[in-house]
Amino acid sequence: MYVRYFSRLLSAMAGPRPVVLSGPSGAGKSTLLKKLMKEYDGVFGFSVSHTTRNPRPGEENGRDYHYVTRDVMQAGIDNGDFIESAVFSGNMYGTSKAAVQDVQAKNLICILDIEMQGVRNIKRTDLNPIYISIQPPSMAVLEKRLRDRKTESEENLMKRLHAAKAAIEFSKEPGQFDVLIVNDNLEDAYGQLKNALLEEINKVKKVNTSS
Ligand code: ADP
Ligand code: 5GP
Repeated sequence: MYVRYFSRLLSAMAGPRPVVLSGPSGAGKSTLLKKLMKEYDGVFGFSVSHTTRNPRPGEENGRDYHYVTRDVMQAGIDNGDFIESAVFSGNMYGTSKAAVQDVQAKNLICILDIEMQGVRNIKRTDLNPIYISIQPPSMAVLEKRLRDRKTESEENLMKRLHAAKAAIEFSKEPGQFDVLIVNDNLEDAYGQLKNALLEEINKVKKVNTSS
């Protein structure tokens, strides 16, 4: 009885579990994430990554990413400022310790949107997130979505589609993800995402309404 009480107390003190969203570029991670943050204002916080890629129209420095040069990013990595980092489609991406700490200090569910290598690296840390994979219904649909998004050059698009094949294979490896969601119909996929996170959402709501 006491053991159960203390283990509950410890888990409440540790705050909500972070969430890792991964899956091929174009699968719909950002779309789902934005819906979630909008519906659950004050529950989730986005871990703002660093990247060496250029901002897309509509993206904002400090909100979507911290846009940095390779030299700045490498210096941060060498300095031990990053929990994980990876090269994707010719650019560097990484999660700084500060990005996660900023969110966790507010007692929010920290969401990391990271690619496959990042997932592998996070598994070597003590972050203990819920791992969720967002998958496209097919490669053909993925290609269409990426093309219609009109954010990538043809060369970049090809790199992303190539990486997508590996990401899809990775998601099929047993035990890599706690939840696999196929984003065919957006509302269905969103419903599944919310369902997977309900327990953590309720934990945060309970703490916030009792304080
Ligand atoms: P990711 O963040 O995984 O790279 P995005 O969220 O940018 O992917 O989605 C890629 C494109 O597909 C966007 O233009 C988005 O509007 C569109 N999209 C996302 N989910 C769906 C869906 N279920 N049905 C149709 N289009 C979608
Ligand atoms: P995009 O350029 O489309 O924003 O992101 C490309 C890929 O990089 C996506 O799969 C996204 O999940 C991943 N990504 C974004 N931030 C990070 C990060 O901090 N670390 C890692 N490993 N991947 C990231």
